[in-house]
Amino acid sequence: MELTYLLNSGFMIRDEKILLVIDDYDDPSGAVDAAYDRDDYDRLYVLVTHAHFDHFGTHIRAYAPKVTRYLFSSDIKHTKRVKIFPSNKITYIKRYSNWQDDLLKVTTFDSTDVGISFLVEFPSGKKIFHAGDFNWWHWTDDTRENLELAEKIFKRQLKKMDGLDADVAFFPVDGRLGVSQEMGAIEFVQRVNLKHFVAMHRVDYPLWEPSPLFVKMSKELPTWAPVTPGEKLIV
Ligand SMILES: [Zn+2]
Repeated sequence: MELTYLLNSGFMIRDEKILLVIDDYDDPSGAVDAAYDRDDYDRLYVLVTHAHFDHFGTHIRAYAPKVTRYLFSSDIKHTKRVKIFPSNKITYIKRYSNWQDDLLKVTTFDSTDVGISFLVEFPSGKKIFHAGDFNWWHWTDDTRENLELAEKIFKRQLKKMDGLDADVAFFPVDGRLGVSQEMGAIEFVQRVNLKHFVAMHRVDYPLWEPSPLFVKMSKELPTWAPVTPGEKLIV
């Protein structure tokens, strides 16, 4: 699989002849445009986890002629921005549901913010998980009540992911959370079975270096923390 960082939580994933684009709200390096123009794939799927501006960008409308399917979280249905998309190419997905065609299998989970997270299985058997805005949003300056609530909903939803297997998981390590930036990730990696962990949702923050606690709790899981749009990783 080839992973390309777009921006924020945006990634392009290529597995054999399938191209998957997730949360491409902006693509400063033009990675998706270039792949689209090369046209060396059989299928193009464009997924969006929720309608927030830093996940859902309307420029992905331009890919419609070659898009096999737009898989959008159901909250996007209620936005004005989605009206420019060809509705016959969109499938809206709710949390805790499944979608598949002859090649791709998609399972969704809940988010702790708006929208959903995705588990995608390619025909090769490879699996990727994209968290969207699912995270333990522990804002240290928040009220005690809010902090308790954030913990509760995160842990409740994490339970449903127990034992999940994926080759790669994309998960927020948001620099704005300061000392709490890895809290969600550390809980997550202990619950699931991964081969690679990819840090996302940290625009304008320096390279994330996993803390000794993360390294220990993740059992030295290989990590990738892309900073520059267009950065690639082969896994
Ligand atoms: Zn977000």
